[in-house]
Amino acid sequence: MLVGNGKSIVNGIAIGKIKIYKEPERIINENTIDDPAAEVARYEAAVEKAIAQQNVLYEKAVKDAGKDIAEVFLVHAMMLEDDDLNDSVKEIITGQKRSAEYATQKGYANYAQMFADMDDPYMKARAADIIDIQGMVLDNLLGLDSASMQGTEPSILVADDFAPSQTVKLDKSLLLGMICREGSSNSHTAILARSMNIPALMQCKEVDDSWDGKDAIIDGKNGCVYIEPDADLRKVLTARHEEDLKKEALLQELKGKPSTTIDGYEVHVYANIGGPSDVGAVNQNDAEGVGLFRSEFVYLNSKEEPTEEEQFVAYKRVLESLAPKLVIIRTCDIGADKTIDYMNLDKEENPALGYRAVRICLTRKPFFKKQLRALLRASAYGHLGIMFPMIISVREVRECKEIMEECRQELIKEGYKIADNIQIGIMVETPAAVLCADELAEEVDFFSLGTNDLTQYTCAIDRQNAKLEPFSDTHHPAVLRAIKMTIEAGHRHGTWVGICGELGADTTLTETFLRYGVDELSVNPKSVLPLRKAIRSLDLSKPATVIGK
Ligand code: PEP
Ligand code: MG
Repeated sequence: MLVGNGKSIVNGIAIGKIKIYKEPERIINENTIDDPAAEVARYEAAVEKAIAQQNVLYEKAVKDAGKDIAEVFLVHAMMLEDDDLNDSVKEIITGQKRSAEYATQKGYANYAQMFADMDDPYMKARAADIIDIQGMVLDNLLGLDSASMQGTEPSILVADDFAPSQTVKLDKSLLLGMICREGSSNSHTAILARSMNIPALMQCKEVDDSWDGKDAIIDGKNGCVYIEPDADLRKVLTARHEEDLKKEALLQELKGKPSTTIDGYEVHVYANIGGPSDVGAVNQNDAEGVGLFRSEFVYLNSKEEPTEEEQFVAYKRVLESLAPKLVIIRTCDIGADKTIDYMNLDKEENPALGYRAVRICLTRKPFFKKQLRALLRASAYGHLGIMFPMIISVREVRECKEIMEECRQELIKEGYKIADNIQIGIMVETPAAVLCADELAEEVDFFSLGTNDLTQYTCAIDRQNAKLEPFSDTHHPAVLRAIKMTIEAGHRHGTWVGICGELGADTTLTETFLRYGVDELSVNPKSVLPLRKAIRSLDLSKPATVIGK
């Protein structure tokens, strides 16, 4: 038995025969040609066909992986229309009197190298996209069909790397798993594999052509592949695989069904996300909306403070992809454990109790206004909720709303369209907010309980300090009472109340939260369907079976 190790993309198990996925052999005519005009025309026709193919791939990827992830193919279509790239290829054809294939090979390779030489990791990664479209243009010129490379039997495909267009073109019903010698865990291929829920290993250096046709098992949980596994291991992993499949099938049956208890109590199950790349997971797991978009990841993923335009693009992408679902974007929650160099925040004695979240925003007004303007502009593209974190007083909420109003007036004057159905809410994650919940509820449309911070502040347990684990009780009665008080206070004033902290996904507390009257639970995308299952098995007309009632 041989073992290969790599970076696992999906936790599951894949069992099947290995198929080495090889590019079709592209034989390029390197001789000089007589009729450059005819070659230019051939090149243009091949590019046109490749653009049409990108649009087909886009439609397929929207279905398989979601609109956001599919966008790579629109980018490819745009790259294929790039004048500089096309001029450089035509220049090789006419200047050097070479075939369209030769010019495509050289011209695209130069262009890819230009991206590969860039410092910015995002731009660097675009080199792979250029190589991808180069392959399509070449196949069109040479009359090759790469779709046939997958074969007709279900298999685990192995390659040095898969281009995004290759991944999307694969017949999913025949695709058991994927293994790449190269490829980063953030490559488009990895993103596609993740959103299609296909076990995949990246950077598996042991990949070898001799694996072709052999029995194999990918163990995504342990990031490895076993080639010709022995009988005992096969038995254990097959049992785990069957168990996973059963669970998955049960969960898939819940897609499209409401999160309603047996006695008819409906609660909305939303997803927590960190940015546009999570939109596919929201759709795949059938979340009804986004209850928490941690916008600070847009800041954390950037070397410099993101501009209004950059933020607008990120928020718009999420809102547009998920419309008409509600997407609640939390304003920047920087500070405490989330520090960023360009923010120049002082080192503090007690960062969790320090200068963070809305405290930064209210004292750095231009910074806050940039985000609010981006959010308000994006609101025209979907159903937006704006949520302020770490609130402890009515004064803070009013100030946030005043600054938002100032932004709204400016934008209207500048001619921007702003939605009129934006919901405004706050995170209830401090004991102060719980105790002032009646007054705060008068100010907003919704509350979202941030149970991670609420637990840390209520129990005076630093959530970052592993030494305190023995003292920590995630079901502490004080936290449960705080949740109950908040829900009741919200409802007294017509304010809906959700939970977006980790406790929302704790199915041992689902009955408790529903009995408290919670309106929404927002959890990581993978927990959406298990939570829906838990909700649908409850009957609140029966006596309570759990703590906290
Ligand atoms: C929380 O505090 O519960 C919460 C959802 O926010 P974060 O974990 O991002 O602080
Ligand atoms: Mg928090």
